[in-house]
Amino acid sequence: MQEHKHFFIGGQWVEPAGTGVIDVISPHTEEVIGRVPDGTNADIDRAVAAARQAFDSGPWPRMTPAERAAAVGRLSAIYAERQQTMADLVTAEMGSPALFSVFAQAAIPQMVLQYYVDLAGTYTWEDERPGMLGPVTVTREPVGVVAAIVPWNVPQFTLMLKLAPALIAGCTIVAKPSPETPLDTYLLAEWIKEAGIPDGVVNIVPAGREVGAHLVAHAGVDKVSFTGSTAAGRAIGAVCGQQLKRVTLELGGKSAAIILEDADLATTIEGFKLASLMNNGQACAAQTRILAPRSRYDEVADALAAMVGGLAVGDPADWGTEVGPLVAKRQQERVEGYIRIGQDEGAKLLVGGLDRRGQDRGWYVAPTVFGDVTNDMRIAREEIFGPVLALIAYDDEADAVKIANDSEYGLGGSVWTADVNHGIEVARQIRTGSCGVNLYSLDPNTPFGGYKNSGLGRELGPEGLAAYLEHKSIPRPA
Ligand code: NAD
Repeated sequence: MQEHKHFFIGGQWVEPAGTGVIDVISPHTEEVIGRVPDGTNADIDRAVAAARQAFDSGPWPRMTPAERAAAVGRLSAIYAERQQTMADLVTAEMGSPALFSVFAQAAIPQMVLQYYVDLAGTYTWEDERPGMLGPVTVTREPVGVVAAIVPWNVPQFTLMLKLAPALIAGCTIVAKPSPETPLDTYLLAEWIKEAGIPDGVVNIVPAGREVGAHLVAHAGVDKVSFTGSTAAGRAIGAVCGQQLKRVTLELGGKSAAIILEDADLATTIEGFKLASLMNNGQACAAQTRILAPRSRYDEVADALAAMVGGLAVGDPADWGTEVGPLVAKRQQERVEGYIRIGQDEGAKLLVGGLDRRGQDRGWYVAPTVFGDVTNDMRIAREEIFGPVLALIAYDDEADAVKIANDSEYGLGGSVWTADVNHGIEVARQIRTGSCGVNLYSLDPNTPFGGYKNSGLGRELGPEGLAAYLEHKSIPRPA
């Protein structure tokens, strides 16, 4: 049991203003494994004041990008050395299978950190332009104090998408992790201190959504970067619009995987283990609508049901586990609610359902596939956020593209084919921020984000650094 009694504010471990606590509960054992103070508005005020002070009069924004990169590079080195500890902690908090966790909950966050350290050396921080009326210096300046609000499903990854570029840009940060996953941020705070990042540059207050809303609306915050549900993203975007605050929103998804006629089925179905079911299906970009050509529908249905029915479900700490529990009881209820909705809508249960694969303890849901799904059903339109797939038949390629694009979301997608070049041509027609061919993945080097209701702005790549910079022009007479 890990118990923390303080918040990381201004580089110090400070007493909370309130007396509330957050219990962190293992999704596998349902036992309390950690406890942290529950942040209040007063704690947020203190954290924003520390970030403001560090931005307005501290050394961080005034250092050169190379100096900041050196400090963030020390953090990256610490992270690289101890990433297994981080992976184990995130698995304990939210149930991500060990094998996935070591990669996505720790190695990738570290890669993102290192990517931005390296980018600092090649990024154009300032350039001289022969303007049409005279010479102009165009410089980039940090946007200011950043509020980083993240969900529980990939807590370190979503935080690092914000923290790494914000730090390199010269911003200071107040991070608000989810109440389900605060423990990993305490470990990170220790590493930040050890790396010698100046006091007040990073401040962390775990808290619930009302306190999150206070942070969003705070007059001391210049930019909000949020990852979470589309409903919360709308509310946050509205406040930022009202206040003309800079905002980046990474929201929900309902991504489609298009299996083309010529796809090799064995490798395609194997690919869905990660693309569709990663992190127990709790992934914003999970490929949860599987689009199969009508001519191969039965073959796909059989292969998909066999793969999903054979997945190893159990203790996320075991290296052999492919699907662990969902994060919380409320999430289990929600996902099983969608399984009932699918049955009521007339979809055909191919595998899974409500038996929880015999797990009578922990928040498990049986990995499930529905067949005979039409794209107007709720299980095809709404984000379920669990291991539940909807198999939809299409007539021809144009029909597949139409179905894939018939969604309020636009986060990810994928095309599975023997002809990669043709796959790229199909991917170009999908209205989403990313669309893989024969896989779904994202890369630290390239932008990630959503079209439509999946968000606003981009993270990762140089675009993800630009999101923390203001561009300033300094013109002079010719
Ligand atoms: P959520 O929106 O309920 O909460 C996310 C975070 O925002 C939490 O820290 C929460 O406390 C806080 N929050 C909620 N409402 C707020 C408000 N009005 N003001 C300020 N803070 C607020 O989402 P969740 O259930 O924790 O996470 C699952 C959702 O996150 C899914 O919809 C998923 O698709 C999305 N997600 C998106 C991405 C992406 O990159 N697009 C990545 C991961 C998760």
